[in-house]
Amino acid sequence: MNKKTVKDIDVKGKTVLVRVDFNVPLREVKRAKIAPAKVFEVADDTRIIKTLPTIDYLLDQEAKVVMISHLGRPKGRDPNLSLLAVADHLGALLKKPVKFVSDCIGKEVEEAVKAMKAGDIILLENTRFYPQEEKNDPDFAQKLASLADIFVNDAFATAHRSHASTVGVTKYLPSVVGLLMEKEVIELTEVIESPEHPFVGIIGGAKISSKMGVIENLLKKVDTLLLGGALANTVLKAKGFEVGKSLIEKEMVDKAKESSRDEKLKILVDAVVASEPKEEAQASMVGIDRVPKDQWILDIGPKTVEFYKNIIQEAQTIIWNGPMGMFEIETFAQGTNGIAKAIVESGASKIVIGGGETLQAIIKYYKPLALANRRIHVSTGGGAMLEFLEGKKLPAIEALQDK
Ligand code: ADP
Ligand code: MG
Repeated sequence: MNKKTVKDIDVKGKTVLVRVDFNVPLREVKRAKIAPAKVFEVADDTRIIKTLPTIDYLLDQEAKVVMISHLGRPKGRDPNLSLLAVADHLGALLKKPVKFVSDCIGKEVEEAVKAMKAGDIILLENTRFYPQEEKNDPDFAQKLASLADIFVNDAFATAHRSHASTVGVTKYLPSVVGLLMEKEVIELTEVIESPEHPFVGIIGGAKISSKMGVIENLLKKVDTLLLGGALANTVLKAKGFEVGKSLIEKEMVDKAKESSRDEKLKILVDAVVASEPKEEAQASMVGIDRVPKDQWILDIGPKTVEFYKNIIQEAQTIIWNGPMGMFEIETFAQGTNGIAKAIVESGASKIVIGGGETLQAIIKYYKPLALANRRIHVSTGGGAMLEFLEGKKLPAIEALQDK
């Protein structure tokens, strides 16, 4: 990687501002007694665990570690999107107290930072409580930067955004790449630049408009690209199939027609259909040329799973983003589960899996298997990973110091 990392700069005893992506799902803790405020806990800590190498390194170097992150999409201060629960969770993982400060700029923060000793760590409150964050406001960025001597960006999942805490701060501090960011870039660059063949891409999910760039770029790199999810409906439509009431994007049909001429692109041969995208709806399997006019395509069918599995089994490199169906409803989750199983069981030497809902879909069984498997890189980036795979430069990485 051509950017300086946290290991290329002297952080000993320095105050280091670390931008992480602790945008993790929270759940409310159910308590017997009615309390004045809601209490939350972290529902999935993958993103937190993945930043531990950077934090451990900085603590080892006796730096003073000041962490910042966003969480969700608050409009102003929102107690339901506080990072307090994350500070507790991080403390438990580190077996060390993580002080939480209920703001990210201002007097309280400045005093907390001033009181830090070497090897201390604090987490500041959600940067998005300030609208200046997403506006990349220079004054806000400077206030954040004034807290520290060095800036480390380890928030890969936010690297496609030019915000004050990702891009703005780099104007005021020596700014380098964190170890998670470095790993993400190395892994994704390797699959996209120098994959071992056969290279198989699997793209599913909701909107083809948000993934068309990825599909087009991957078609230049892969040997086979397998499609599923709602976005495959638009391709089916472009190929002249009846898609019934399925979700499609009309304005994308022409673009989809162009890509679908590529022989590397494979679409479903059968589907799980139902009269409504609901749990109680009666589902059935049909050949892809037999989709009834009054039904929705809600998952890839078992024949498609088998067809895709045979291709996945032969792959040396695999990249997967996007669920194959409406997995939130068990009846329509079989395609996604089947693909997850085929990927985890494949003999490929390099596998990358990413995407917000994709990871949500495999969280119970396949995500732990994937995380435990050294050939598999579970990316923390959703949108950032997609932009990377499109071949775009990510502004928050570009803003960091070159080697
Ligand atoms: P990711 O976040 O992993 O990139 P997306 O956000 O693109 O994935 O898409 C995930 C959503 O796509 C899921 O909520 C899922 O229900 C929906 N989806 C997948 N297949 C279908 C389908 N056939 N019909 C309707 N929705 C679908
Ligand atoms: Mg998503």
